[in-house]
Amino acid sequence: MPVGGRKVPPVAVEKEHATVASTISGREVDLPAMWNRMFEPRVLTDYGPDGFAAISALPGGESLEWCYGCGKCVAVCPVDMVGDYGPRKIHRKVQTGTDLLVDPDLWLCTTCGNCLRVCPKEVDMMAVMPAVREAALNRVDVPAELQDVFEKTFRYGNALGQNQRRRAQWADSAGAPVRILGRGPGPVDVLFYVEDYWSFHPRGQDAARAFARVAAALGIDWAVLGPEEKTLAVSQRLAGEKGLFDALVEDVTAVLAKYEFRRLVTADPHAFNALLTQYPQRGHSFEALHYTQLLAPLVGQIEWARELDLRVTFHDPCYLGRQNGEYDAPRALIEAVPGVQLVEMARCRQNGYCCGGGGGGMWLDSVTRDHTTERLSERRVREAVQTGADVLAVCCPYEVPRFTDAAKSTGHEDLRVCDIIELIDEAMRDGPARG
Ligand code: SF4
Ligand code: SF4
Repeated sequence: MPVGGRKVPPVAVEKEHATVASTISGREVDLPAMWNRMFEPRVLTDYGPDGFAAISALPGGESLEWCYGCGKCVAVCPVDMVGDYGPRKIHRKVQTGTDLLVDPDLWLCTTCGNCLRVCPKEVDMMAVMPAVREAALNRVDVPAELQDVFEKTFRYGNALGQNQRRRAQWADSAGAPVRILGRGPGPVDVLFYVEDYWSFHPRGQDAARAFARVAAALGIDWAVLGPEEKTLAVSQRLAGEKGLFDALVEDVTAVLAKYEFRRLVTADPHAFNALLTQYPQRGHSFEALHYTQLLAPLVGQIEWARELDLRVTFHDPCYLGRQNGEYDAPRALIEAVPGVQLVEMARCRQNGYCCGGGGGGMWLDSVTRDHTTERLSERRVREAVQTGADVLAVCCPYEVPRFTDAAKSTGHEDLRVCDIIELIDEAMRDGPARG
């Protein structure tokens, strides 16, 4: 049977009656059909390894065929909870003839990493799926929204297709000084890599302005690149555009080399992860921090102006928590805000549920909606609502837009979605608190 063919069910062999000699009395015993049924030997070699050959040949694709079918991954896969997915299922489909390079399953993995956490065989979908997607880009029609993001990133240096000269426009109304290195050279302690959604998305800009005010109040020596900043294109890489990512590594490091700074801090867990993992692989190492890690040790220096009286639940970003082990810094910040009570969702920390935005999922909602019963962000909003929280706090730039949309589409507009830095900023300022 060719590899990938369907398994032939075993053929039952039975006689209406059969007689066997009793081992005790030696007498012949009549066995009716239901007792004398035999099966032809099952063929265990229906499937060969050839279905994996194309995937294993891809750098990063090797581990898919290591799966031995225990099924642990499916139980924790966030996509399976709203659909039919998980590494074991992908493995089985490839084993039985599916060409993953042209299958819709290609786009569903968010690279959240929860499967790798539990997999005894270390099947690594964060390596497999980007490799498969990269190979697939020449064979399939890339979903329109994702293709649009690839093109905007290539042309403008950001996923939102905005004019780079407006990179730091958010700072004009921050109410605190924001130093742009190109306009005021000289050493700086913290180079803050703002990334796309805090630079250009209106709700991201709110958070960026809050960060500027908090950093100023704490006396942090910090600056941004402004118009010289380009995206690191981390999610574009995970969606298959490794070439674009590599080209941007060259651009980004050339700009960074112009300036003297001690620490590279970002609000984007995906960028943070890339600076810790992908950049060193390419010969560029930095002291990189997520902004919550920068601020958590300074929280005792914050001069609070008021209590917020809020019940807050927190969504762990996959690329800060599970992928880099940082669960405590965001919680330390939330718990420090006067009047805030932190309530955890059942799925949190190592088993945090993915918002659906990673791995290119931010730009694949139009594809995933055809393969899932609801968006991952919608499911997460329901989990947040179950805690009785007033606020769903996040610290990833994708999540405020995603969860705000999901709160509306699930009828939970009362759930306020905001970045942790906005809560801190709010409690540091006089004036009426937001409910
Ligand atoms: S946990 Fe690993 S070995 Fe087990 S089914 Fe999933 S991918 Fe296969
Ligand atoms: S990385 Fe996350 S979304 Fe992808 S298969 Fe694993 S658990 Fe599912």
